Amino acid sequence: MTEPVEILRAYRVTLDPNPTQELTLAQHAGAARWAFNHALAVKMAAREQWKGTVAALVAAGASEEDARRQARVPTPTKPAIQKALNKVKGDDRQGVAGVCPWWHVVSTYAFQSAFLDADMAWKAWLDSLAGRRRGRRVGCPRFKKKGRSRDSFRLHHDVRRPTIRPVTTRRLLLPRIGEVRTHDSLKRLMRALDRRSGVIQSVTVSRGAHRWYASVLVREWIALPAPNRAQRAAGTVGIDLGPRSPVTLSTGERLFTHRAQARHARALAKAFRTVARTMKGSRRRGKAQRRLARLQHLEAARRSTDMHRLTKRLATGWAMVAVPDLQAAGMTHPARGTGSKAGAGRRPRRALNRVLRDISPSEVRRQLDYKTVWYGSRISIVDYGYPSNKTCSACGTAKTTLALSERVFHCTACGLSMDRDVNTARAIARFAVASDRGETENARGAPVRPIRPVRTVTRGTSMREGPPTGGSPQCSDAQASPRTITQTGEGSAHRQQG
Ligand SMILES: [Zn+2]
Repeated sequence: MTEPVEILRAYRVTLDPNPTQELTLAQHAGAARWAFNHALAVKMAAREQWKGTVAALVAAGASEEDARRQARVPTPTKPAIQKALNKVKGDDRQGVAGVCPWWHVVSTYAFQSAFLDADMAWKAWLDSLAGRRRGRRVGCPRFKKKGRSRDSFRLHHDVRRPTIRPVTTRRLLLPRIGEVRTHDSLKRLMRALDRRSGVIQSVTVSRGAHRWYASVLVREWIALPAPNRAQRAAGTVGIDLGPRSPVTLSTGERLFTHRAQARHARALAKAFRTVARTMKGSRRRGKAQRRLARLQHLEAARRSTDMHRLTKRLATGWAMVAVPDLQAAGMTHPARGTGSKAGAGRRPRRALNRVLRDISPSEVRRQLDYKTVWYGSRISIVDYGYPSNKTCSACGTAKTTLALSERVFHCTACGLSMDRDVNTARAIARFAVASDRGETENARGAPVRPIRPVRTVTRGTSMREGPPTGGSPQCSDAQASPRTITQTGEGSAHRQQG
């Protein structure tokens, strides 16, 4: 055990709102979507203005490069956007027309966090353009469309009077919405508040088809555990992700061998056909679409639960978890092939694509990133350049070629004969142990340990807003605690109601 560190953990529950509350939730989601689009439009207008200024300077004889440097049109961020909006929003209670006279119906935080989200999306895009951001390319933020985008909003905790709190194990108090019943127990959240001196930071409410979820973000203290005896004894586990059996462990165990969609496959196919037979814009079509969305959401929830179970088991069962560094984006190829290769290797690829959609390697990786920290283990990312599937896990001899159809790995050097996937998983574990330098990296290339100081934390939901007036009270917390790590994930009541 080391000294306790501050972490951010999310506790997610399914809400059971009454009809009035459901309407309020939908209004908040609508307001957040409107605010995001408003902020984005303001930013885009500023960028157009900047482009115009550059063009004018170039026309006046300046070089393109100089013009870009000289043209100064600041992109408005949250404070400026908010200030400008306050002047024109109007108020329908007093009959004052404006761009959003209904603003008082929803919490001001719905607007504020949407403005922040727009700031972050815009920055991610510019950083990606300039090569300052690792990972997949980030595109220009798009407008959120009703019915297309995920309904969601974030409310922040007002420290002056606690507005977000579990009232009982089945009732969650939300600002402006009131006490909402929950399907899942809030016991784990209450325990975090009591025993780990947790402080609620914010709540993100989102809709998935017919259900509303609340994810409560808590800042709490935990002692980072060292691997326990069982974990040390188990050592390192290697994982292979492949088309025949989605997940193979170096222990020889195969997981998710059943078709991941099996449970709702028939109902889903039927729901698709029903939608296809209805007329566009008809009431029957709306009904059929809702039914389809519902089934798809249940399927996604189940997949998510499976993945959480897997990552928790891996993080708690071994001292080190070795995973291949797969780029999920690069791995899913069009099943039909492209150009002259159309049709080539079609079936294995389609099978692989289906598997990678069912268990997302990047999501497994993201969950392992924080769960290994919680449970005292470490993650090791094995470079994709390492030919683990062609390397003998016993003697380390690499083959030059290996057809996908060869299911058993035969080593000509040492005579090993073993199932291909198990051999790959073992080779990954072997490579991880051999190259272990006692440190790990997270998905963005930053070290997971040592733990970063709180001030530099900018990832995900750890962005925070202070109350509308006065300073940000969380800042003083931050100074008092020298170190923090930010990981959000399923903390409580993960099992979805089926
Ligand atoms: Zn060998």
